[in-house]
Amino acid sequence: MTLSFCSFSSGSSGNCYLIKSEKTAILVDAGISGKKIYEGLEATGTPRGQLAALLITHEHSDHTKSIRTILKREKKLKAYANWGTWSNITHEICDAQKEIFETGESFYIGEIMVRSFRVSHDAAEPVGFTFSSQGKQISIVTDTGCMNEEIISEIKEADILVLEANHDVDMLKIGRYPWFLKKRVLGKEGHLSNTAAGEAILKLMSESSKERLVLLAHLSKENNFPEMAYQTVKNILEEADYYIGKHLKLNIVSRENLSLIYKI
Ligand SMILES: [Zn+2]
Ligand SMILES: [Zn+2]
Repeated sequence: MTLSFCSFSSGSSGNCYLIKSEKTAILVDAGISGKKIYEGLEATGTPRGQLAALLITHEHSDHTKSIRTILKREKKLKAYANWGTWSNITHEICDAQKEIFETGESFYIGEIMVRSFRVSHDAAEPVGFTFSSQGKQISIVTDTGCMNEEIISEIKEADILVLEANHDVDMLKIGRYPWFLKKRVLGKEGHLSNTAAGEAILKLMSESSKERLVLLAHLSKENNFPEMAYQTVKNILEEADYYIGKHLKLNIVSRENLSLIYKI
Protein backbone atom coordinates (compact mmCIF):
# COMPACT_ATOMS: atom_id res chain seq x y z
CA MET A 1 0.00 0.00 0.00
CA THR A 2 1.19 3.50 -0.79
CA LEU A 3 0.45 6.69 1.08
CA SER A 4 0.81 9.82 -0.98
CA PHE A 5 0.84 13.53 -0.38
CA CYS A 6 0.14 16.48 -2.65
CA SER A 7 -0.19 20.15 -1.80
CA PHE A 8 -2.77 22.04 -3.86
CA SER A 9 -1.73 25.33 -2.26
CA SER A 10 0.18 26.37 0.85
CA GLY A 11 0.50 29.78 2.51
CA SER A 12 -1.50 32.66 3.89
CA SER A 13 -3.52 32.99 0.69
CA GLY A 14 -4.87 29.47 1.07
CA ASN A 15 -4.08 25.95 2.18
CA CYS A 16 -5.28 22.59 0.94
CA TYR A 17 -3.48 19.26 1.05
CA LEU A 18 -4.37 15.81 -0.21
CA ILE A 19 -3.39 12.59 1.55
CA LYS A 20 -4.35 9.37 -0.11
CA SER A 21 -3.96 5.64 -0.30
CA GLU A 22 -5.23 3.45 -3.15
CA LYS A 23 -8.78 3.51 -1.75
CA THR A 24 -9.08 6.54 0.48
CA ALA A 25 -8.56 10.24 -0.16
CA ILE A 26 -8.48 12.85 2.60
CA LEU A 27 -8.36 16.60 2.20
CA VAL A 28 -6.70 18.69 4.88
CA ASP A 29 -8.19 22.19 4.96
CA ALA A 30 -10.13 23.94 2.23
CA GLY A 31 -8.66 27.43 2.17
CA ILE A 32 -8.61 27.83 -1.62
CA SER A 33 -11.43 28.11 -4.13
CA GLY A 34 -13.62 25.09 -4.83
CA LYS A 35 -12.47 25.34 -8.44
CA LYS A 36 -8.82 24.94 -7.44
CA ILE A 37 -9.64 22.02 -5.17
CA TYR A 38 -11.45 20.17 -7.98
CA GLU A 39 -8.57 20.95 -10.34
CA GLY A 40 -6.19 19.43 -7.79
CA LEU A 41 -8.31 16.31 -7.43
CA GLU A 42 -8.42 15.93 -11.18
CA ALA A 43 -4.67 16.50 -11.64
CA THR A 44 -3.86 13.89 -8.99
CA GLY A 45 -6.25 11.34 -10.51
CA THR A 46 -8.50 11.35 -7.46
CA PRO A 47 -12.13 10.48 -8.24
CA ARG A 48 -14.60 12.50 -6.16
CA GLY A 49 -16.10 9.26 -4.93
CA GLN A 50 -12.83 8.43 -3.20
CA LEU A 51 -12.99 11.54 -1.02
CA ALA A 52 -13.62 10.19 2.46
CA ALA A 53 -13.02 13.19 4.72
CA LEU A 54 -12.17 16.84 4.95
CA LEU A 55 -10.07 17.55 8.03
CA ILE A 56 -9.75 21.06 9.39
CA THR A 57 -6.71 22.27 11.32
CA HIS A 58 -8.19 25.56 12.58
CA GLU A 59 -10.75 28.22 11.75
CA HIS A 60 -8.62 30.86 9.98
CA SER A 61 -10.00 31.61 6.55
CA ASP A 62 -6.84 30.57 4.70
CA HIS A 63 -7.81 27.06 5.88
CA THR A 64 -11.60 27.16 5.75
CA LYS A 65 -12.75 29.46 2.95
CA SER A 66 -14.37 26.77 0.79
CA ILE A 67 -15.62 24.26 3.35
CA ARG A 68 -19.23 25.10 2.65
CA THR A 69 -18.81 25.00 -1.13
CA ILE A 70 -17.20 21.57 -1.00
CA LEU A 71 -19.67 20.10 1.47
CA LYS A 72 -22.64 21.40 -0.50
CA ARG A 73 -21.34 19.68 -3.61
CA GLU A 74 -20.19 16.49 -1.89
CA LYS A 75 -23.27 15.52 0.11
CA LYS A 76 -21.70 12.32 1.41
CA LEU A 77 -18.48 13.97 2.53
CA LYS A 78 -17.90 14.66 6.23
CA ALA A 79 -15.77 17.41 7.68
CA TYR A 80 -13.79 16.71 10.86
CA ALA A 81 -12.67 19.34 13.35
CA ASN A 82 -12.37 19.61 17.10
CA TRP A 83 -14.98 21.41 19.14
CA GLY A 84 -12.96 24.62 19.53
CA THR A 85 -12.54 24.93 15.78
CA TRP A 86 -16.17 24.11 14.95
CA SER A 87 -17.43 26.69 17.40
CA ASN A 88 -15.41 29.37 15.62
CA ILE A 89 -16.36 28.46 12.08
CA THR A 90 -19.09 30.78 10.89
CA HIS A 91 -20.05 28.95 7.69
CA GLU A 92 -23.42 27.27 7.87
CA ILE A 93 -22.79 23.57 7.66
CA CYS A 94 -25.43 20.90 8.09
CA ASP A 95 -24.96 18.81 11.22
CA ALA A 96 -25.04 15.54 9.29
CA GLN A 97 -21.75 16.49 7.62
CA LYS A 98 -20.01 17.59 10.81
CA GLU A 99 -17.79 15.24 12.79
CA ILE A 100 -16.09 16.26 16.02
CA PHE A 101 -12.81 14.77 17.20
CA GLU A 102 -11.01 15.34 20.47
CA THR A 103 -7.54 16.78 20.10
CA GLY A 104 -5.07 13.97 20.79
CA GLU A 105 -7.37 11.09 19.91
CA SER A 106 -6.77 8.74 16.98
CA PHE A 107 -9.45 7.69 14.54
CA TYR A 108 -9.69 5.89 11.24
CA ILE A 109 -10.70 7.26 7.86
CA GLY A 110 -10.86 4.11 5.75
CA GLU A 111 -7.59 2.29 6.41
CA ILE A 112 -5.70 5.48 7.31
CA MET A 113 -5.24 6.26 10.98
CA VAL A 114 -5.44 9.96 11.78
CA ARG A 115 -4.10 11.54 14.92
CA SER A 116 -4.42 15.20 15.82
CA PHE A 117 -2.13 17.09 18.13
CA ARG A 118 -2.15 20.60 19.51
CA VAL A 119 0.01 23.31 17.94
CA SER A 120 0.74 26.83 19.19
CA HIS A 121 -1.26 29.35 17.18
CA ASP A 122 -3.71 32.17 17.81
CA ALA A 123 -6.82 30.16 16.99
CA ALA A 124 -9.29 28.43 19.32
CA GLU A 125 -7.90 24.88 19.22
CA PRO A 126 -5.38 24.57 16.36
CA VAL A 127 -3.96 21.17 15.47
CA GLY A 128 -1.50 19.35 13.27
CA PHE A 129 -2.17 15.86 11.93
CA THR A 130 -0.33 12.59 11.54
CA PHE A 131 -1.57 10.01 9.05
CA SER A 132 -0.37 6.45 9.26
CA SER A 133 -0.97 3.19 7.54
CA GLN A 134 1.04 -0.02 7.50
CA GLY A 135 4.02 1.58 9.20
CA LYS A 136 4.14 4.56 6.87
CA GLN A 137 3.61 8.03 8.22
CA ILE A 138 2.91 11.56 7.00
CA SER A 139 2.75 14.50 9.41
CA ILE A 140 1.64 18.07 8.86
CA VAL A 141 2.65 20.94 11.14
CA THR A 142 1.95 24.47 9.99
CA ASP A 143 0.55 27.54 11.73
CA THR A 144 2.54 27.16 14.91
CA GLY A 145 4.54 29.94 16.56
CA CYS A 146 6.86 27.47 18.21
CA MET A 147 7.71 23.81 18.45
CA ASN A 148 7.65 21.90 21.73
CA GLU A 149 8.40 18.41 23.00
CA GLU A 150 4.85 17.20 22.39
CA ILE A 151 4.86 18.26 18.75
CA ILE A 152 8.34 16.80 18.19
CA SER A 153 7.29 13.46 19.65
CA GLU A 154 4.18 13.36 17.42
CA ILE A 155 6.13 13.92 14.21
CA LYS A 156 9.51 12.32 14.74
CA GLU A 157 8.67 9.08 12.95
CA ALA A 158 7.14 10.74 9.90
CA ASP A 159 8.47 9.57 6.52
CA ILE A 160 7.08 12.76 5.01
CA LEU A 161 6.96 15.84 7.20
CA VAL A 162 5.18 18.95 5.98
CA LEU A 163 6.68 21.68 8.14
CA GLU A 164 6.01 25.39 8.26
CA ALA A 165 8.87 27.72 7.25
CA ASN A 166 6.82 30.90 7.19
CA HIS A 167 9.24 33.79 7.23
CA ASP A 168 12.75 35.08 7.46
CA VAL A 169 12.88 36.97 10.76
CA ASP A 170 14.96 39.90 9.41
CA MET A 171 12.86 40.24 6.30
CA LEU A 172 9.73 40.35 8.46
CA LYS A 173 11.23 42.91 10.84
CA ILE A 174 12.27 45.35 8.11
CA GLY A 175 9.28 44.63 5.90
CA ARG A 176 6.11 46.63 5.47
CA TYR A 177 3.80 44.72 7.81
CA PRO A 178 2.31 46.93 10.53
CA TRP A 179 3.90 46.43 13.94
CA PHE A 180 0.95 44.55 15.47
CA LEU A 181 1.09 42.03 12.65
CA LYS A 182 4.86 41.60 12.95
CA LYS A 183 4.38 40.96 16.64
CA ARG A 184 1.64 38.45 15.92
CA VAL A 185 3.66 36.48 13.36
CA LEU A 186 6.80 36.47 15.54
CA GLY A 187 4.90 35.53 18.70
CA LYS A 188 4.65 32.12 20.38
CA GLU A 189 1.22 31.72 18.79
CA GLY A 190 2.19 33.02 15.37
CA HIS A 191 4.12 31.28 12.62
CA LEU A 192 7.35 29.29 12.48
CA SER A 193 10.37 31.06 10.99
CA ASN A 194 12.87 29.48 8.59
CA THR A 195 15.41 29.30 11.41
CA ALA A 196 12.94 27.69 13.81
CA ALA A 197 12.04 25.15 11.11
CA GLY A 198 15.73 24.33 10.66
CA GLU A 199 16.19 23.91 14.39
CA ALA A 200 13.10 21.69 14.62
CA ILE A 201 14.51 19.43 11.91
CA LEU A 202 17.83 19.26 13.78
CA LYS A 203 15.97 18.17 16.90
CA LEU A 204 14.13 15.49 14.92
CA MET A 205 17.38 14.24 13.40
CA SER A 206 18.93 13.92 16.84
CA GLU A 207 15.92 11.98 18.15
CA SER A 208 15.44 9.65 15.21
CA SER A 209 17.89 9.22 12.38
CA LYS A 210 15.38 7.84 9.89
CA GLU A 211 15.74 9.21 6.38
CA ARG A 212 12.79 11.54 6.00
CA LEU A 213 11.48 13.88 3.37
CA VAL A 214 10.78 17.35 4.76
CA LEU A 215 8.57 19.68 2.75
CA LEU A 216 8.78 23.31 3.81
CA ALA A 217 5.32 24.83 3.70
CA HIS A 218 3.12 27.86 4.45
CA LEU A 219 5.78 30.27 3.15
CA SER A 220 4.93 33.94 3.46
CA LYS A 221 4.61 35.92 0.25
CA GLU A 222 5.84 39.15 1.84
CA ASN A 223 8.52 37.86 4.18
CA ASN A 224 10.17 34.89 2.54
CA PHE A 225 11.50 33.41 -0.68
CA PRO A 226 11.58 29.70 -1.42
CA GLU A 227 15.37 29.83 -1.99
CA MET A 228 15.86 31.65 1.30
CA ALA A 229 13.80 29.12 3.28
CA TYR A 230 15.66 26.23 1.66
CA GLN A 231 19.11 27.77 2.17
CA THR A 232 18.49 28.79 5.78
CA VAL A 233 17.40 25.27 6.71
CA LYS A 234 20.26 23.73 4.70
CA ASN A 235 22.84 25.91 6.49
CA ILE A 236 21.52 25.03 9.94
CA LEU A 237 21.63 21.32 9.11
CA GLU A 238 25.10 21.44 7.57
CA GLU A 239 26.51 23.20 10.60
CA ALA A 240 25.51 20.09 12.53
CA ASP A 241 26.88 17.77 9.81
CA TYR A 242 23.57 16.72 8.36
CA TYR A 243 23.48 16.81 4.58
CA ILE A 244 20.55 16.98 2.19
CA GLY A 245 20.58 13.96 -0.06
CA LYS A 246 22.55 11.95 2.48
CA HIS A 247 20.61 12.21 5.74
CA LEU A 248 17.30 13.63 4.58
CA LYS A 249 15.47 15.01 1.58
CA LEU A 250 14.29 18.61 1.56
CA ASN A 251 11.90 20.38 -0.74
CA ILE A 252 9.53 23.36 -0.78
CA VAL A 253 5.82 23.33 -1.53
CA SER A 254 4.68 26.21 -3.65
CA ARG A 255 2.27 28.88 -2.45
CA GLU A 256 0.11 28.70 -5.54
CA ASN A 257 0.88 25.67 -7.63
CA LEU A 258 0.24 22.02 -7.18
CA SER A 259 3.25 20.25 -5.70
CA LEU A 260 4.65 16.99 -6.96
CA ILE A 261 2.89 13.90 -5.73
CA TYR A 262 5.12 12.39 -3.05
CA LYS A 263 4.66 8.68 -2.43
CA ILE A 264 5.83 6.37 0.31
ZN1 LIG B 1 -2.50 29.53 7.81
ZN1 LIG C 1 -3.73 30.34 11.02
